[in-house]
Amino acid sequence: MSQPQHASRTVLVTGAASGIGRRVAEHFALDEGASVCIVDRAADGAQQVAQALRERGGRARAFVADLADPAAVQAMLAAVDAEAGTPDIVVNNAGIAATVPALDFPLAQWQATLAVNVTAPFLITQHTLRAMKAKGWGRVVNIASISGVRAGTGRVGYGTSKAALIALTKQFAIEAAEWGVTVNAVAPGPVETPLVKTLDGGASTETYARMLPMRRFGSTDEVAHAVAFLASEGASFTTGHVLAVDGGFLAAGLVTRGA
Ligand code: NAP
Repeated sequence: MSQPQHASRTVLVTGAASGIGRRVAEHFALDEGASVCIVDRAADGAQQVAQALRERGGRARAFVADLADPAAVQAMLAAVDAEAGTPDIVVNNAGIAATVPALDFPLAQWQATLAVNVTAPFLITQHTLRAMKAKGWGRVVNIASISGVRAGTGRVGYGTSKAALIALTKQFAIEAAEWGVTVNAVAPGPVETPLVKTLDGGASTETYARMLPMRRFGSTDEVAHAVAFLASEGASFTTGHVLAVDGGFLAAGLVTRGA
């Protein structure tokens, strides 16, 4: 994917037992030689990914936390600091979604969505930025969504949380800008993962893909490339940015075929 440049660095990736987070963790462990902290709520999933990376020559440890619980987030951060060292690169990737009409959206689902998609990244970024500031180097990449930029039917919770994550990215970015630390976001369009099935509102992949300029879903690899760029040395003047990886979705507005 790129020349190894993070061999001396510790990387924390949330939601790394599956989908986009797993591919991002693979990149840092196998292509960059970094020490990677796999954070997820399912112990077996996190441990399997860490084990698989170690078997392929990478350095990876599993940390289990339900990111909906702020106390569990703080405990996970303390364990990461003690066992792996304070992270130099953080990828706030874990996210949950439910597609429910706005008038029916349950309060408990709203609170859970904000807890995982916004509060956990806030706590993790706040904690890790202190060490990044002291070191004079750091990278935070938040996995937002095109749903944080454009509204979508049934996405009152998810879309609002991703818009908040984009705002959080910019808020942290400007305060960290003088410390050698960048804070950016990636906004994926639809990517083939377990999560996307909860987002498509019952539409088939084929139907949804036809509405996209590229007429296809993205891959976890294509999102990981964007994360790798934002975490790279070369991205040192890029901060507070939202990088869409969406096959042209945000550029499009209405797409007419055959015009
Ligand atoms: P995924 O395959 O479902 O992976 C998400 C991972 O996060 C899962 O391992 C999940 O565990 C974990 N997770 C969820 N809630 C958690 C919690 N409370 N504590 C700890 N871990 C938790 O999803 P993905 O598609 O790769 O999504 C990754 C990120 O990309 C999300 O932020 C998502 O919003 C964003 N995104 C995805 C798409 C897409 O089309 N796939 C598009 C735009 C943005 P469980 O399996 O136990 O739930």
